[in-house]
Amino acid sequence: KKPPARKGSMIDVPEELIEQIHGLETIFRATPEKLQAVTKHFISELDKGLSKKGGNIPMIPGWVVEYPTGKETGDYLAIDMGGTNFRVALIKLGGDHTFDTTQSKYKLPDELRTTQHPEELFAFLADCIESFLEEQFPDGVTGTLPLGFTFSYPASQNKINEGILQRWTKGFDIPNVEGHDVVPMLKKQLAKRKLPVDVVALINDTTGTLVASLYSDPDTKMGVIFGTGVNGAYYDMVKNIPKLEGKLADDIPANAPFAINCEYGSFDNEHVALPRTKYDVMVDEQSPRPGQQTFEKMSSGYYLGELLRLVLVDLHAQGFILKDQDLTKLNVPYCMDTSYPSRFEDDPFENLENVAEIFEKDFGIKTTSPERKLIRKLSEAIGLRSARLSVCGIAAICQKMGYETGHIAADGSIFKMYPGFPEKAALGLKDIYGWKETDPKKMPLRLVDAEDGSGAGAAIIAALAEKRLAAGKS
Ligand code: BGC
Ligand code: MG
Repeated sequence: KKPPARKGSMIDVPEELIEQIHGLETIFRATPEKLQAVTKHFISELDKGLSKKGGNIPMIPGWVVEYPTGKETGDYLAIDMGGTNFRVALIKLGGDHTFDTTQSKYKLPDELRTTQHPEELFAFLADCIESFLEEQFPDGVTGTLPLGFTFSYPASQNKINEGILQRWTKGFDIPNVEGHDVVPMLKKQLAKRKLPVDVVALINDTTGTLVASLYSDPDTKMGVIFGTGVNGAYYDMVKNIPKLEGKLADDIPANAPFAINCEYGSFDNEHVALPRTKYDVMVDEQSPRPGQQTFEKMSSGYYLGELLRLVLVDLHAQGFILKDQDLTKLNVPYCMDTSYPSRFEDDPFENLENVAEIFEKDFGIKTTSPERKLIRKLSEAIGLRSARLSVCGIAAICQKMGYETGHIAADGSIFKMYPGFPEKAALGLKDIYGWKETDPKKMPLRLVDAEDGSGAGAAIIAALAEKRLAAGKS
């Protein structure tokens, strides 16, 4: 917990820097009025996404056509290819709203994010699965294990066990995957290694979070991720999803629930609602996919450190800070991941010793006390904007669905690790709704820690998919 900044602690900061700090706080501020306006526009964009014509927000039908009952049972393999790590888990669904998880985490090698050879990525995934199986089943697997594949990118589905990648996000840039179904790519590598697994479902991490949380908490309204990327999933009703028309099996009634992976990271790609700064424009233009994921680029973990870095480099170029320092190291794009602003916000304000040490050690830069205060205030401004903006997606879904109370199951590195993030996000929601309640734990729509979405969710959805298959339905 960070101690409150003592009054007068900006005493050593020269007027010139104070002005800069105020200017930055102003451009990164998301006022209640702004959040409300953003939410309003968000709602109309969600509806467009569900229409036959479609819109900016993909609103991808997830082919999960029922709520979990909590009674699902069996052993499932779950894999999760997220932004930073790859996880393999064995999930035992208990059939009584509980489950057991045994998992291993593998760091996704950085070069795989941008490899020219997609097979290398899928070979890596299959190698990890192979070594996991060897550890967990030293005597071999009996039969085959059904596998749920959490693939946290926008992927279109015409059925539960396919995923046609629409576009890479979060800095991934691998040719020949966009426009293709990733399931056969994985299957090919699994077959090469003769692994006894059967890919029965591909799911988004938000859908997994939604379903896993619903398995144990019936008040769950949405599954959301505040992590390397930002996104949310919820259940709509078939009859409210015009673009499903003609695509459904006959047994699915108009009032059936249908999970939607919103992919709302792409909100406002047309740049009409969000308060973008020149640094947001730079992040976008320098990314491998300019013009895409506008909302995500302003709020998710992959970009927060980069925003901070771009501001610092700019202030240096204008002669305001780090005079006479060598910026060679800080000039490297993405050299600051989110752990940087996160650690800066964690550092006691009076001395900011960790900030000093990090700049020296990692970037060979000596900072002055006023500069460190600027860095700290800037981190706070960027982190606060992220928390406040990212809840606009939640408010939009809940308003659209008429949800006034309930739980929003949240997961992701920013939610779990960024100092004060859940509280700041809750207060953002309060500002959108105008609630009087100020205790984040008592808000009508409450952000709660999700159940392990990417593991259990994939397993539960795999179980639901198997049940439908066994009944001869698709
Ligand atoms: C992806 C989503 C994912 C989100 C959180 C975004 O970049 O497009 O599919 O749910 O990140 O991981
Ligand atoms: Mg993840």
